[in-house]
Amino acid sequence: MTLTENLSRYFGYDDFKEGQEKIIQAVLNGEDVLGIMPTGGGKSLCYQLPALQMKGITLVISPLISLMKDQVDALTEMGISSTFLNSSLNDATYNQRLEGIQKNQYKLLYIAPERLNANSFLALSKQLNIAMVAVDEAHCISQWGHDFRPHYQEIPRFIESLPHRPVVAAYTATATVKVTQEIKALLKLRNPVESIIGFDRPNLFYQVVKTGDKFKYVTDSIRQDFQDKSGIIYCATRKTVEGLTEKLTAKGFSAAAYHGGMRPELRQKNQNDFIHDRVHIMVATNAFGMGINKPDVRFIIHYNMPQNMEAYYQEAGRGGRDGEVSHCTILYSPADIVKQKRLIQLNQSSPEREKLLFENLQYLVDYCHTNECLRKKILEYFGETPTFERCENCGNCLDESEMMDITIEAQKILSCIYRLKNRFGLNMIISVLRGSKNKKILDLKLDALSTYGIMTDHTSESLREIIMTLVAKDYILVTADEYPVLKLTAAASRVLKSDEKVFHKKHLVEMKAVKNKKQSKVKYPIDFDEILFGLLKALRYSISQEKEVPPFMIFHDATLKEMAAYFPLDQESFLKISGVGQAKFENYGDLFMKEIKVFVDTNQIEIKERNERASTPIQEAMVEKESRSDSYKKTYDFYTKGCSLDEIARERGVTRNTVIGHLMRCDQQDKRVDWSNFLDEAKEVLILKAIEKTGLDLLKPIKEALPETCSYEDIKIVIHKNGLQ
Ligand code: ADP
Repeated sequence: MTLTENLSRYFGYDDFKEGQEKIIQAVLNGEDVLGIMPTGGGKSLCYQLPALQMKGITLVISPLISLMKDQVDALTEMGISSTFLNSSLNDATYNQRLEGIQKNQYKLLYIAPERLNANSFLALSKQLNIAMVAVDEAHCISQWGHDFRPHYQEIPRFIESLPHRPVVAAYTATATVKVTQEIKALLKLRNPVESIIGFDRPNLFYQVVKTGDKFKYVTDSIRQDFQDKSGIIYCATRKTVEGLTEKLTAKGFSAAAYHGGMRPELRQKNQNDFIHDRVHIMVATNAFGMGINKPDVRFIIHYNMPQNMEAYYQEAGRGGRDGEVSHCTILYSPADIVKQKRLIQLNQSSPEREKLLFENLQYLVDYCHTNECLRKKILEYFGETPTFERCENCGNCLDESEMMDITIEAQKILSCIYRLKNRFGLNMIISVLRGSKNKKILDLKLDALSTYGIMTDHTSESLREIIMTLVAKDYILVTADEYPVLKLTAAASRVLKSDEKVFHKKHLVEMKAVKNKKQSKVKYPIDFDEILFGLLKALRYSISQEKEVPPFMIFHDATLKEMAAYFPLDQESFLKISGVGQAKFENYGDLFMKEIKVFVDTNQIEIKERNERASTPIQEAMVEKESRSDSYKKTYDFYTKGCSLDEIARERGVTRNTVIGHLMRCDQQDKRVDWSNFLDEAKEVLILKAIEKTGLDLLKPIKEALPETCSYEDIKIVIHKNGLQ
């Protein structure tokens, strides 16, 4: 079998992702490799695929015990024989596996680093033909990394003890230059072929939201954009986790909690429910996430400020591992910063470390207040030099709100701080500027200052926003004391002397809600049928519950979407779908094709021939092209010419369902659509009656309660027309 044959046969892919081929070819040439690729970059395939081609077994060293089982389950689904050895196994199973390894039953063996030099394994390893040692999360070997694991330092001793030195391959998603050098030196990599792919995760949409009502924001946002989609909400404390989970479940959301203070069994249960899609929202502290490789997390909300940029990038990075869009939102509130500062102080680290922690936190505060591109800010933090000024796909780049000159406001604030002799905190400064008559102000005679009451026309929130923006722009410094004090920096004098102007977003200064909600511009590259996609998801879910594996191990969302776009009905076309390998076809092909066939027949869908799989990887094709974003307008043009659904579908080369989707979008944007053109009244009455009986949660029961003549499309139109969802 050639490399590409195996890529297609086992993994169901036709192309490599960036960097994969170079690494794999080098490994097959017997060279050591170092792959630094972002989360979701496809590191596993870099060792799994060559492992199939090489004679002998590949050892994969991984620190995350919980992931080993998942990886082995996923490989089993693909028809690749593998196993794992770690402390979770009892003696009998352990020995049984050792025997299996000796009998060459496996192509891959996942092993925890502390097991390598155990006598039983050392003895066995001498008799094995070890083709490659792949070190996953290789940064764990470095004391300078963020996740040092002392056992990793035993890896080189193990490799040296082997009669034949195998190929050594190291992989990580996060490594500074210093850590990279350490990985190479400590693992004794020999002239490794390197593939370093930047930190950027183009499918993650970053935004910072300033809202007075976080709970409302969360519930509105999930209802509008993430119904039935998986997401994580990170909170700073266990108490917030518990409170928020309770409030969400009380409102009917499918949410579960996760934090370090819970009973381990309950925590594990909640985690499993999330991974198996039995629960959609995980409300968690930062204890959640290590070792979770759920690929289809569609939103990550930080209900409170994260601790620093590293933590934020790790946590936000858990979204969109499958390469599809995920929204990463920080809900900003100034009170959270004060909380984080208190936490740093309570930790009582050394003065240098404390200084570093404060600096790191400040970077994040600046991130929340900047008007520049958020992606650029993140990449710069990690030492990259982005080639763009604006990514055109983050909350800031898409924010078209008006900028206003706030130089005068800034001058008033800065001079107030000056008059207060750099001795007071945020609240006091706001009170003086707003002319408060509180006792402390009167006692200290601050009402006699020339800056007293000069900003009564601003609300406290607006002043807080402007002041924090001045902090982010380095005109004001916030001290790290128990009661933080605001001081002017040298740069402030330039504003005070009118040598420098200051600008900020008008709606933020005025504290008005933004009308146009920002959404990622990145879209899935193909038009797919949403109803069929929903049906296939339901089928996948029922299989997954029966087999007790997470749904994503059966097929990824992207794979189901392709099925819902190309309606494959025979082996040849089914195998062309990206993510369908031979084993998956044999195990699930019939079930899925049956579901597709019923859908195609009831909806009289004309199937277009699909010659090849999409030739570009999803990420590359993701940014929506101008023509695609206008697609629904073209549909509308046909509609206004009086064409029927079928005529529009034929002309546009899409399904009738897609046409309906386009028209709904037009309708929402105030383009009039008369739905009665597509639906007779009698059917509508029938459908409304059925909905009354079955509820709106699933379409299938509604359909089943209706005569054959009512299609899914009819139901969809009725729901939309009557504003039921
Ligand atoms: P990482 O370990 O780098 O975070 P994974 O190995 O989990 O990433 O891969 C991320 C996702 O990309 C997985 O869903 C995987 O199936 C998919 N993937 C890997 N290689 C390819 C490829 N060549 N084409 C399409 N998808 C791929």
